[in-house]
Amino acid sequence: MSLPAKKAIEIDKNVTHYIYKMLNHEMILKYDESKCIECGFCHRVCPVTISIYDEPLKKTAIGTPEEMRVESDKKIVVDVEKCIWCGSCTWICPGYTLELIINGENKILLVENGSLPEFEEEVRTLENGQKVRKVVDGSITINCDEKDDKVIDAFADECATGAMSREGKEVVVDIDKCILCFKCTEASKNYENISVKVFRDRFKKVKGEPSSVWNAINLRVLGKEGKIKGIMSRSQNKLADSVMRLLGKEFSEEEEET
Ligand code: SF4
Ligand code: SF4
Repeated sequence: MSLPAKKAIEIDKNVTHYIYKMLNHEMILKYDESKCIECGFCHRVCPVTISIYDEPLKKTAIGTPEEMRVESDKKIVVDVEKCIWCGSCTWICPGYTLELIINGENKILLVENGSLPEFEEEVRTLENGQKVRKVVDGSITINCDEKDDKVIDAFADECATGAMSREGKEVVVDIDKCILCFKCTEASKNYENISVKVFRDRFKKVKGEPSSVWNAINLRVLGKEGKIKGIMSRSQNKLADSVMRLLGKEFSEEEEET
């Protein structure tokens, strides 16, 4: 086998290992589908943008099969040809679904070198007992002109955390349970009479000093629709470049040895 080698291995029906193996170094991005709430944060923070000048949010190195334009029955897939094992997705994942394992140890170099801050965690327990953390603060507004209770109930069931319910002809959100994710906004595209606006005002209190990577990630997660597109097409190269620079030493040194 030639090195470095990149591959995806299904460990069992839930767990997939996305592996980057070098001579003296192995990085595994572990994804556990049983914990995935399909919130969409991982897709938004991934610094790799495949199509930089054309619809940048459509494709990164991680996302739903639809976002990644691949056929798969998994909730989330990773493109091993594009992934740089930076751990940004692991860092933000509210469901503790992703882990980055470097030479057998759970670690995120971007956090260790201070490029990404640690969150002050605010953890919720879902009805099924799963732990989910809230990473941003803000608000959500749902407009419902739907008259059919069954359709409203079906929409409420789309929520990633069980925060939505129907009251009469309205959809109400328990803001304490809501993690201000991307799931209901995406789902609302299939409901003619229901619309959602999520305002992610700020990240939860974080520890550490912000860096350029952190600023760019802020923009991707909190950026307001409309405003973000133009800025992103100019800044995304820079984001992927800075992350690669911060990780680059590890990558290039190892690759030279092979
Ligand atoms: S951030 Fe985590 S829980 Fe959310 S969609 Fe991605 S893998 Fe699933
Ligand atoms: S109501 Fe909140 S937690 Fe539920 S899908 Fe919408 S944004 Fe996510």
